[in-house]
Amino acid sequence: MSPGPMPQKGKFMFKQRLFTPGPTPVPEEVLLELARPMFHHRTNEYRKMLEQVTKDLQYVMGTTQDVFTITGSGSAAMEASVACVVAAGEKMISVRGGKFGERWSELGVAFGAKVVNLDIEWGLPVTAQQIADALKANPDTVAVYITQCETSTATVCDVEAIAKVVAQTPALLVVDGISSIGALPFKMDAWGVDIAVTGSQKALMLPAGLAFIACSAKAWKKISTTKGHAYYLDLKAYKKALTPPEWDNPYTPANLMVRAAMKALSMIKAEGIEKIWAETHKRAEAIRAAARALGLVVYSKAPSDSVTAILVPALAEGKTGDDLAKTMTKDYGVKPAGGQGKLKGKIIRFTTMGYTDSWDILAAVGALECSLAKSGYKVEFGAGVAAAMKVLAS
Ligand SMILES: *Cc1c(COP(=O)(O)O)cnc(C)c1O
Repeated sequence: MSPGPMPQKGKFMFKQRLFTPGPTPVPEEVLLELARPMFHHRTNEYRKMLEQVTKDLQYVMGTTQDVFTITGSGSAAMEASVACVVAAGEKMISVRGGKFGERWSELGVAFGAKVVNLDIEWGLPVTAQQIADALKANPDTVAVYITQCETSTATVCDVEAIAKVVAQTPALLVVDGISSIGALPFKMDAWGVDIAVTGSQKALMLPAGLAFIACSAKAWKKISTTKGHAYYLDLKAYKKALTPPEWDNPYTPANLMVRAAMKALSMIKAEGIEKIWAETHKRAEAIRAAARALGLVVYSKAPSDSVTAILVPALAEGKTGDDLAKTMTKDYGVKPAGGQGKLKGKIIRFTTMGYTDSWDILAAVGALECSLAKSGYKVEFGAGVAAAMKVLAS
């Protein structure tokens, strides 16, 4: 098989392009913040930083509620939102339509909750009607746990419609927005979301290490009267520490990461969140158009704009999607993600979140074309790139 039209990996000059849906690329200006001198966190300097970060996160999440910054990956905020909300023996509904929905269920089990699993076929979004039916059948539910973008299947659900349903009941709506907040429209207060969680390494242009969580007044009522399971992740401690004029964390924060977050969030704010949503949508449309032009199929029936999953076509000699992803990475420097769980080897995923631009998209599609050709799939070179360019130039 010919190596394809593009130069292959050189020894010294080989540019790496990261397309995994977390971590995602981080701008140099943000990385440089991590290289600046260490400073102490019980200082006015730090409190000002955390105040700014908190306010900018409120802007990104669309809320006037406190947003707490936890040291940990996104799952730390997920854990806090179960451990502080659902007492042992209380009932929660967990929507399972992929790997991250499963995490909600596992957290519930870990803390002794009565978990009602709402299983959704992978690649389909949960609907407001399904949530309404589940709540009707389980009126004693204290919280409903959903995933705005199920990253493992690249599927988005209608959080606004679901929030309307949950708001009519005593239950709280908890949204995993780890791969969506900052990339897809999300309006916590306007939609009536009770708890929103996200993490630093997806749409927010940061390395992994910080988790963020915001809670509505309805959520606080539940949290303050619940015998929870948390110490380090006890949200009451975070609230006490943050309440102005404190602007503080209960334990030693990852202060360099907070400084980097201040930089990344200031860039997001300067760009404007609506503009970022629109640009992210366009990049996702471009990748989807490229896939179709190459005769490929987008996996999800409700594709997210923050990550795209493409079904891997029949390749030579039993090669799987993981082999295809490996070729893209090793020979062309483009690193997509493969599939998780039952989708392992069957899909490849490309992020369109955060610090990714139009030229990155064209590089990814070009590398996909070359790698498909190398793997025995018939490719008309340039068909995918042309389709992507048409979208990006529109
Ligand atoms: C990445 C991701 C997580 C897990 O976050 P960690 O930062 O790895 O703990 C949870 N939910 C979704 C939807 C994700 O994309």
